[in-house]
Amino acid sequence: MKAHRQLLRPAVRLRRSRRTDADVSERLWLFDLDNTLHDTSYAIFPKIDHGMTMAVAEALDVDIETANRVRSMYWKRYGATMIGMVRHHGVNAHDFLHRSHDFDVDPLVRAEKALAYKLRRLPGRKVLLTNAPLHYARAVLSRLGILHLFDSLWAIEHMRLHGEFRPKPSPTLLRYVLAHEGVPAHRAVLVEDTLANLRGARQAGLRTVHVYHPGTPFARGRSQRPAYVDLRVNSVSDLLLRRRPLRG
Ligand SMILES: [Mg+2]
Repeated sequence: MKAHRQLLRPAVRLRRSRRTDADVSERLWLFDLDNTLHDTSYAIFPKIDHGMTMAVAEALDVDIETANRVRSMYWKRYGATMIGMVRHHGVNAHDFLHRSHDFDVDPLVRAEKALAYKLRRLPGRKVLLTNAPLHYARAVLSRLGILHLFDSLWAIEHMRLHGEFRPKPSPTLLRYVLAHEGVPAHRAVLVEDTLANLRGARQAGLRTVHVYHPGTPFARGRSQRPAYVDLRVNSVSDLLLRRRPLRG
């Protein structure tokens, strides 16, 4: 068994690693994808839900209603339906992710205007950290015209530790990502719509930005800023204007 020695596989690095002394003082922005960089609730979440349900129904040979229940149960328990399917039913992670995200994202992507321009104006390195699969993340970033602005992409396939998937909000995952990126925790900021992930980031010592999105589960009624959130914004524009509390 090699499982005990198996560490997370490295992320997809889009640019050559630049681990110099100067980089240690540079800010690292860890961006979530769905409902953070684009409006997934608009049209994509229904597609993913449908794809997941169909993938579960086919893998377990159950009806749609049962598959829907299973999908939702594993998503709540593990942060990703795929993890429950791998752990309890032995499905192939790669096949499941492709089956569940097998649609053309291009006509469905919606985001704030001039996103590439705004991200470029944010000083520091940018890394994507999403619990979604890599092929989907890459397609969305390409459609948004911002793929080239990211140093590396961390997707669900890269979040495996000791043979087990450890997606966000795992503080262990976040510490590993920072070690891999060569940045101390206090220089890193997680920008996210999901509060539970921000809580995990704070446990790992990161700064946190909550991007409020009304379509995100458990987002409603959370108008107050929790103690583990440094800044609450409504968009990347908002982050550009109001990032002062993150300095230092
Ligand atoms: Mg999200």
